[in-house]
Amino acid sequence: RRAILLASRPQGEPTADNFRLETATLPDPGKGEILVRTIWLSLDPYMRGRMDDAKSYADPVELGDVMGGQGVGQVLASRHDGFAEGDIVVGMTGWADHAILRGDEARKLDPSRAPVQTALSVLGMTGLTAWAGLTEILHAKKGQTLAIGAATGAVGTVAAQLAKARGLTVIGIAGGEEKCRYATDELGMDACIDHHAHDDGKAMAKAIGDAAPQGIDLYFENVGGKTLAGIVPNMNRDGRIAICGMVAWYSGKNLDHAMPLPAVWRAILVNRLTVQGFLVSDHMHRMDDFVAELAPMVKDGRLKHREDVTEGLENAPQAFLAMLGGGNFGKTLVRVGPD
Ligand code: NDP
Repeated sequence: RRAILLASRPQGEPTADNFRLETATLPDPGKGEILVRTIWLSLDPYMRGRMDDAKSYADPVELGDVMGGQGVGQVLASRHDGFAEGDIVVGMTGWADHAILRGDEARKLDPSRAPVQTALSVLGMTGLTAWAGLTEILHAKKGQTLAIGAATGAVGTVAAQLAKARGLTVIGIAGGEEKCRYATDELGMDACIDHHAHDDGKAMAKAIGDAAPQGIDLYFENVGGKTLAGIVPNMNRDGRIAICGMVAWYSGKNLDHAMPLPAVWRAILVNRLTVQGFLVSDHMHRMDDFVAELAPMVKDGRLKHREDVTEGLENAPQAFLAMLGGGNFGKTLVRVGPD
């Protein structure tokens, strides 16, 4: 088995030196376990947090351990009644080309429903994150104006399109003209602001105010940084903010773009804002309902999605580092093995 291990902990921004490729022999699966050959690996921003030795909602990866992550793969051997050789499953394979999973932690996929890698993106945790944020946290309603950062990223793409389908006005924020064109022309967002074209929170606030003179009712927070500083002054009374992530700050960068806490606190008070953090792991019980609703939309093209695929497990670290800086265009996936 080939796997990417955490070789050292990053100081600030991670580098390729923080990872190491290792080859090892796997034991046979034990009772209740399955041996899986990884086909697709998902790379997600939360993995940056797990590289630090800091307490969070997910435990840190230990030095010398395989980087954690979700993958889609094929069962090569099964000692669990629910799985047979040849089944396609999604589970925590880690950054590895083979893995032993507990059967009760894997989910069988139906390859006729959608391309199997969508279980890592639009029809998996990514899509569920978008759906839960919009539905359960923001209580999005027709006629409201929603703003969303990383609007053409994995989560953003789904949240923005679902919001449009529900009759909201959607203002996207994305990095670069090409991403912004995609947001408006392909995904149907009403406006998109290129954050590269605005230096600080003040400039962002002006651009967001110009794009949404009616103000922002709902903010799907993915990025923090100057985007958040631009959103807060534009929030309407009784608005809601769902804190999903803050990728601009994950490596301790862009802190000078933060609004002072007293100003944020005051805006929350004056505008009677509701601010709520959420984790997709608390919404896993909705996975089947969510897939049933979205799978037909993916199949008939009503819900567009885009994959940013890197070939080869050995290239996962580079793809991960690029994604953290906005180098991805769509859901970041690694093609680890053949179908
Ligand atoms: P994306 O596909 O959106 O990739 C990350 C994107 O972040 C980049 O493409 C880039 O887009 C944007 N970005 C990076 N740096 C900055 C910056 N300084 N300012 C503004 N934008 C920046 O990743 P995901 O869709 O997987 O994740 C989106 C967010 O959702 C993350 O914060 C992630 O941690 C969070 N998340 C939270 C979950 C939860 O349970 N709460 C579950 C899953 C994801 P651009 O080029 O447009 O700037």
